[in-house]
Amino acid sequence: MIEERFDAIVVGAGMAGNAAALIMAKRGMNVLQLERGEYSGSKNVQGAILYADMLEKLIPDFREEAPLERHLVEQRFWMMDDRSHVGLHYRSEDFNEERPNRYTIIRAQFDKWFSSKVREAGATVLCETTVTELVQNGYGKVIGVRTDRRDGEIGADVVVLAEGVNGLLGTRARLRERPKPDKVALAVKEMHFLPRETIEARFNLRGDEGVVIEAAGTISRGMTGMGFIYANKECISLGIGCLVADFQRTGETPYGLLDRFKRHPSVARLIEGSEVKEYSAHLIPEGGYKAIPQLYGEGWVVVGDAAQLNNAIHREGSNLAMTSGRIAAEAISRVKSRGAPMSAQNLTLYKKMLDDSFVIKDLKKYKDMPTLMHTNSQNFFLTYPQLVSRAMQNFVRVDGTPKTTKENVTLKSFVNARSWTGLFGDAFRFARAWR
Ligand SMILES: Cc1cc2nc3c(=O)[nH]c(=O)nc-3n(C[C@H](O)[C@H](O)[C@H](O)COP(=O)(O)OP(=O)(O)OC[C@H]3O[C@@H](n4cnc5c(N)ncnc54)[C@H](O)[C@@H]3O)c2cc1C
Repeated sequence: MIEERFDAIVVGAGMAGNAAALIMAKRGMNVLQLERGEYSGSKNVQGAILYADMLEKLIPDFREEAPLERHLVEQRFWMMDDRSHVGLHYRSEDFNEERPNRYTIIRAQFDKWFSSKVREAGATVLCETTVTELVQNGYGKVIGVRTDRRDGEIGADVVVLAEGVNGLLGTRARLRERPKPDKVALAVKEMHFLPRETIEARFNLRGDEGVVIEAAGTISRGMTGMGFIYANKECISLGIGCLVADFQRTGETPYGLLDRFKRHPSVARLIEGSEVKEYSAHLIPEGGYKAIPQLYGEGWVVVGDAAQLNNAIHREGSNLAMTSGRIAAEAISRVKSRGAPMSAQNLTLYKKMLDDSFVIKDLKKYKDMPTLMHTNSQNFFLTYPQLVSRAMQNFVRVDGTPKTTKENVTLKSFVNARSWTGLFGDAFRFARAWR
């Protein structure tokens, strides 16, 4: 029997849930947010790069008080084989701007602060409360939630599912399927603590400047996956993730991969002498556009990772989560302001607004990329990085071999490994999936 009622219940206090609860509360709705963790952020894992533009749309003056680590002035991409890396580095003084575009953050601290803003806006936030089930009426309309608290049934006009990548509630209520192993990556991450000056010297940084490194290649042992190294003020976040289906296929272990990544000569010297204080493991939705489930229904919407909204190519997730949470909240408050019911028909507004945003446009652009990467992982993550590394070494090593001979050796190595048809086919498939 439901006794307590709210305009909206938000399940989860991560990026998506906080954005949704904040906007609905700011618009005068009576909002309850439920989070299973001890506090918002206590269960959340991220690299973590924060994209300022999306947060600015929620909290315009966030820079004045949010717990930010470093603003990014440099991005490095590394293609690695076992002993080398070929790098593309972009660093610009333009990023030392008044309102920096990207920051590193530590999620546990950031989410706590974000949650304080949700409370300030007037939402009721209950932590250490797990939603165990969605309550549906006889017609399948979601009318509230059941929690693990005593008398834990609470009613609402609409439930926002911001429960993260596992999305167990939505699956249990048969609103969507459980993400398949080839659509989610398992990532492991460590925090390596070092004195601030050591980090700044190793990464060539001044003040609060920051740098991030995204790495791919033989570190993932031919599986679809990437590593990352992000410089915070007094620690370095370092991690690696690969598709769950690939772990199942190869029998590799996430910590085995992380260990090899840390021992790579290019990485080891960055973290030398550090103290590891935190380990975590988490799933990342990587199925892209084709894995997006039904986004709304009778009395419910789903946002963020629970809706598989993650751009694995650009390593963006939190910004898609915040944006989908904001857009869902705006759509819901528009339906409410018309005095209309939270029916599936009225909540299509959320889908329409999301379709018009960068979230769906970007995911649609890369709709074929996840399958291409997964089905060609041996080539893209093992063969090509090794070939490129050898080609670079051949190019820069001066040993009296004529340059034409060197070029022929390099060309031959590519053709021997992939054949002309294979090379053109890979380039064509990659270009088609990218456009
Ligand atoms: C290793 C790693 C690195 C990443 N790096 C980046 C990065 O650098 N930049 C970036 O933009 N994105 C990154 N991401 C992705 C990003 O973390 C996610 O896209 C983002 O956190 C999604 O936000 P969310 O609110 O949808 O889910 P989450 O942040 O996972 O939040 C879900 C919340 O719901 C709660 N919850 C779940 N079930 C229940 C329940 N039944 N009852 C109550 N509460 C519940 C959880 O405790 C959690 O607090 C990374 C992810 C990982 C794993």
